[in-house]
Amino acid sequence: MRVAVIGSGYVGLVAGTCFADSGNDVICVDIDEKKIAGLNQGIVPIYEPGLDELIERNTKAGRLRFSTDLAASVKQSEIVFIAVGTPEGETGEADLQYVLAAARSIGKAIERYTVIVDKSTVPVGTADLVRREIAAVTDVEFDVVSNPEFLKEGAAIEDFVKPDRVVIGTDSQRAREIMGELYAPFCRQRDRILFMDPRSAEMTKYAANAMLATRISFMNEIARLCERVGADVEAVRMGVGTDSRIGLPFLYPGTGWGGSCFPKDVKALYTMGRENGLDFSLLRAVTQVNEEQKRTLLQKALRHYGNSLDGKTFGVWGLAFKPKTDDMREAPSIVLIEGLLGKGAKVVAHDPVAHETARRIFGDRIGYAETPYGAVEGVDALFVVTEWNEFRRPDFDRMKALMKAPVIFDGRNIFSPGKMRERGFTYYGIGRGRDE
Ligand code: NAD
Repeated sequence: MRVAVIGSGYVGLVAGTCFADSGNDVICVDIDEKKIAGLNQGIVPIYEPGLDELIERNTKAGRLRFSTDLAASVKQSEIVFIAVGTPEGETGEADLQYVLAAARSIGKAIERYTVIVDKSTVPVGTADLVRREIAAVTDVEFDVVSNPEFLKEGAAIEDFVKPDRVVIGTDSQRAREIMGELYAPFCRQRDRILFMDPRSAEMTKYAANAMLATRISFMNEIARLCERVGADVEAVRMGVGTDSRIGLPFLYPGTGWGGSCFPKDVKALYTMGRENGLDFSLLRAVTQVNEEQKRTLLQKALRHYGNSLDGKTFGVWGLAFKPKTDDMREAPSIVLIEGLLGKGAKVVAHDPVAHETARRIFGDRIGYAETPYGAVEGVDALFVVTEWNEFRRPDFDRMKALMKAPVIFDGRNIFSPGKMRERGFTYYGIGRGRDE
């Protein structure tokens, strides 16, 4: 099938590449000329495990191309995906300007029946808006389908090719058949497609993200209580998560959820409620707990140092909002580092892949260490912010020898409090009993 994907970011690039890999003829489009020029030279603009090889293989096979020419790309395609950003608007709503601009351009370009697919996360009713936007500029027949994306950065390809489910919202039989055919290669083991109406599909995406964010905020609040009453949240997590009605995923306490999706999607869902006369008070609490949680490491440090961080130097392990990505949108590391700098401390950070992204945020206000050990040299304490696997088994003796003082604030509970104390560290985790 001939497919165009408008917007070549984390979602568009992965989706386009995976569709090409399943034998389709795909063209990924972006307005960012530098991004497309880079992709045409084999430079992949994001870090996502396995993506470079997959792009190389499919471009070499002639199934995957990149272009800034939206009109030409749309004209040659039967299916056009809209995968542009939907950032947070001024009052918490999803900003649809990029989606609607893409829709208008698509409308002006189509020459024959085309299926136009909303892949971006968009509020309920957006498929109707997109349809209206396109109908205003063309007489050609088309269908608009809602097909939200559930991939996780860091495991995006695996998630895309082996999805738990594919949600397709459409009222058109013709579009349903075309979408079914496109996704058939990802459903060989069993049928994974859930067809529904577009509004339910749009709501499904927000409800899923809000549910996941709620689980994490819930565990973070349980962790806080564990610290007050002397319980260990890691034991509690196992005790709770092994209940088959609850399950273990997304029960990890930590430094708060961030990333490009949860914060804006929870706010957009809350705003959707408000605009429709519903005060979704649970989501207000979920967000408030998270805002507080992002400050938890700083507060632990302030308590440890008697409120004075001035002149101290801190190491930070992990900048990305989660492992295996370079994405730092709404990352808890930003809140922590800005807090430390604001209190007069110096910061040296290490992240396996996010230094380039971090430089765009902090510039030279912090130091960047090439290795984890470089980030603990001469520091008063280390903060663990992202649970990259390479941080889990360091040479503790080497760390102790390098650090000015053996103090660790572990925002991801990657170390055991008992063992760390045996090794001679002052250790703070999240919800691991009463802090020292
Ligand atoms: P992104 O910011 O990485 O990429 C968006 C791209 O769209 C950018 O490269 C931008 O230049 C391009 N663009 C904007 N307007 C354009 C236009 N008119 N024509 C062509 N290109 C245009 O965003 P993302 O993380 O890929 O997210 C895209 C959508 O998918 C969002 O709605 C997001 O909520 C949703 N989503 C994201 C994830 C994720 O993990 N990142 C997961 C599921 C869903």
